[in-house]
Amino acid sequence: MPSKVFSAALYGIDAKIIEVESDISHGLHSFNIVGLPDKSVDESKDRVNSAIKNSGFTPPKKTNQKITINLAPAKIKKEGPAYDLPIALAYLLASKQLILDLKDKLFLGELALNGKVRPVQGVLSIVSTAQKNNFKEVIVPLENFKEASLIKNIKITPVGTLYECIDYLKGNEIQIPKLKEKKKIEKISDFDFCYIKSQDQAKQALKIAASGGHNVSMSGPPGSGKTMLAKAFMTILPELSKEEQIETTKVYSVADRLEEGEYLIEKRPFRSPHHSSSLVALTGGGTHAKPGEISLAHNGVLFLDEFPEFQKNAIEALRQPLEDRKITISRASGSFSYPAKLILITTQNPCPCGYYNTGQKECTCSMHSIMQYQKKISGPIADRIDMQIEVPMVEHKKLSDDTELEKSLNIKKSIQKARKIQENRFKKEKIYTNSEMSQSQIKKYCKLDEESQIFLKNISEQNNLSARAYFKLIKLSRTIADLEESENIKTHHLAEAVQYRIKSKI
Ligand SMILES: [Zn+2]
Repeated sequence: MPSKVFSAALYGIDAKIIEVESDISHGLHSFNIVGLPDKSVDESKDRVNSAIKNSGFTPPKKTNQKITINLAPAKIKKEGPAYDLPIALAYLLASKQLILDLKDKLFLGELALNGKVRPVQGVLSIVSTAQKNNFKEVIVPLENFKEASLIKNIKITPVGTLYECIDYLKGNEIQIPKLKEKKKIEKISDFDFCYIKSQDQAKQALKIAASGGHNVSMSGPPGSGKTMLAKAFMTILPELSKEEQIETTKVYSVADRLEEGEYLIEKRPFRSPHHSSSLVALTGGGTHAKPGEISLAHNGVLFLDEFPEFQKNAIEALRQPLEDRKITISRASGSFSYPAKLILITTQNPCPCGYYNTGQKECTCSMHSIMQYQKKISGPIADRIDMQIEVPMVEHKKLSDDTELEKSLNIKKSIQKARKIQENRFKKEKIYTNSEMSQSQIKKYCKLDEESQIFLKNISEQNNLSARAYFKLIKLSRTIADLEESENIKTHHLAEAVQYRIKSKI
């Protein structure tokens, strides 16, 4: 009878249950792992062999033993070393060195040659899947214990070695480390809004963006403070909810990006990939599929500095995530998606040299190169960026002005209020912010009086707005009205929104 031990494979940001079966029969010696394993899984044989030997058990014999390990279902590709521990246990069961019933437990862990159980990636997703599939217990590597413990209503048992794991399964006690609450140290950011002189329009735009989850593009000459504004944006964003913390941690765990000792992401991510980043680095995927920068920014900010300098295909790759809030990765074995609910902030110069129309220095670019530069952001991408603002150079005398400016903490309070209004509004919908509204939700939640309707009609006719741009304008006005705690959208809300939408073109 083949033995069976349960484990799980990562599939996008989720996991799927895998059965690890082991069968031993008499015959010419062989040790095979079947069921779509990649090379790293196949290498498991040597690690499992040594770990079993060094834990005081008998490893697979070199003669007259045909060992087959089957990872089922076969259609799911198995990657990485997390199957070492379940494979070792399946072998020990099949060879009758262990007689145990493990059907309500799930196992994961890489084995070192000496039998130590090493941490693996994606633990949070795997434990969450185990809980949903009614497993009673998950046995995890000791280093992954804190992360696994974020999922409630399932028993988590950490093991340091294969020997310790077996000893525990036989009924002996195991020491469970105590989970201590991390002490929070609030650091004052160097990028507080109160340090940014002038730039009132940009600051107001960022406040609206943070309230309604809108995307922003900032255009201005080098040195006007665009990057500083983007970094300060993080200080006014609302706190991550517990649910969002777990969602974000899942992405980082699957991407193997949790730092040592880190088991829960508590701050909104701020990702700022360089414009030379490859397409895969941005979108995710690749041979060993992992989330890319777009998904690492999930629940946070994706900051693309010098946006037109990114490769054309990288810019276009943003279309789907900006629309669907997820990114689909297609592979030979099927497609899956990573979450990508983010606020996009981009910056760009007005032209390649940076000074076109700034009145500061003479622009040295040809009209042709200016057009080429601006054309890199295609219409569909520009349409998905809700706010387009100019960030001019700050005059020297304003820089030395020491009038006290509003602190980020204060701004954040009004943003949180606006978010609360949205939360209540969308209680029955599956969305949280105004920027996520569908056309039918816009119709339902954005009522315009007659005056506003006429105003909007004129604006869209004058500017030949696309349908998408038209609806973005209403969503933006909804957020501006929420910041004013106004139930209805009024003409002056629309008028303010127009300033951020319609950018002067050459
Ligand atoms: Zn120029």
